[in-house]
Amino acid sequence: MNYDIEKIRSYFPILQQKVYNKPLVYLDTAASAQKPVQVLMKLEQLHNDYYGNIHRGAHYMADKATVEYEEVRDKVKEFINAGSRKEIIFTKGTTESINLVASSFCEKYVSEGDEIIVSEMEHHSNIVPWQIEAGKRKAKIVKLPFNDTGLLEMDKLPELITPKTKLIAVNHVSNVLGTINPIEKIIEIAHQHNVAVLIDGAQASAHIKIDVQKLDVDFYAFSAHKVYGPNGVGVLYGKKKWLEEMPPYQGGGQMISEVSFDGTTFNELPYKFEAGTPNISGLAAFGAAIDLINEIGVENMGIHEHELLEYATEKLKAIPGLKIYGEAPHKSGVICFNIDGIHSYDLGMLLDKMGIAIRTGHHCADPIMQHFGMSACARISFGMYNTKEEIDIFMEALNKAIMML
Ligand code: PLP
Repeated sequence: MNYDIEKIRSYFPILQQKVYNKPLVYLDTAASAQKPVQVLMKLEQLHNDYYGNIHRGAHYMADKATVEYEEVRDKVKEFINAGSRKEIIFTKGTTESINLVASSFCEKYVSEGDEIIVSEMEHHSNIVPWQIEAGKRKAKIVKLPFNDTGLLEMDKLPELITPKTKLIAVNHVSNVLGTINPIEKIIEIAHQHNVAVLIDGAQASAHIKIDVQKLDVDFYAFSAHKVYGPNGVGVLYGKKKWLEEMPPYQGGGQMISEVSFDGTTFNELPYKFEAGTPNISGLAAFGAAIDLINEIGVENMGIHEHELLEYATEKLKAIPGLKIYGEAPHKSGVICFNIDGIHSYDLGMLLDKMGIAIRTGHHCADPIMQHFGMSACARISFGMYNTKEEIDIFMEALNKAIMML
């Protein structure tokens, strides 16, 4: 594989930063990826050269911004191989994409006594929206558990599905366990029972090639900021057959066809679900991020990060008293761990002083913490720009921190 890491790193100005006078080692890409110059330049270019509100202006600036906005929709369509640009809805992020489906899908299809299956390894943003909507409708949330290795208990899935099941919500990759879930199998089983599937792709989209048509998935959600784009931008892919029937999520400009006090008619897809002025510059910059990923190849990024995962896992396992949470055979570049007698917050703070950015806490996944009987853990995660040398620096700092604590 021709993976020019020096060239890739040169795209990210922040990686040249020093933190407390130490070179920055950024191991928190699962929380948010750093931004390449291509994205930063696009944000600036749009504001400097052709900013205007989209879809409604009668002037050059608005037209140019609109054309670019819609071009990004086509880029996203290609990026995940959707069948139609009508199936690409722009949102604020994965969280909003899931809330949109939870609200709108449940309004149309879920009523008292119905069931929604949610996996135990979800981020809060793929649990709470379902709880809120199920609560409104007296529907039930059914848990699909995982085992101590970090694998979903797939043998339980067929028996959890009942005639009342309306949807299964599961992540493609866990932000804590790193598990790459067998979503193809989940979708196949769900469809045998006429049940829809929503996949939270927040942790997958920058590491795995997504093909929504091949997956035959009903809904797929992800965030631009985790694929090297800006924050405040997200995607909801939805099959036309659902989106056409589902009611709008929010009301406002752009999502309507005609408004009068006698009644309102809604716009066609995808605009029916895009109320109000979107993040125009963010969307344009998201396009630049997709171009870069396409240039490098998401599969190549995945291979590179997997090498880092194996390298770091082996080194971490050699530390006495260190426990890794999630040891699935198919893992993405995420490692969560705790060390006997050391609180992850203390570890995070000490590493920070040595220039190393990791994440600590519950990772917005309390049910995973509860599964393992802990309240917090440390997490390192890799992006396209990380190196084995950085892992060596991290390991040295970790050993130093352990001695100090
Ligand atoms: N789902 C998973 C698996 C995540 O890791 C995250 C963020 O970390 C989210 C959902 C929420 O993403 P956002 O905050 O971009 O909406």
